[in-house]
Amino acid sequence: MYKCLNCGKEVSLEQANEKIRCPFCGYRIIMKTRPKKVVRVLAR
Ligand SMILES: [Zn+2]
Repeated sequence: MYKCLNCGKEVSLEQANEKIRCPFCGYRIIMKTRPKKVVRVLAR
């Protein structure tokens, strides 16, 4: 999975076509996201 740095939406390679590009806003800078979900832990 990839994440658009502009709109913050997750973009898959299928949606991004050959050129990695955000299908939602057309932004060309997309950051790879780790397959594992980030687990937030509240430290109290
Ligand atoms: Zn975007």
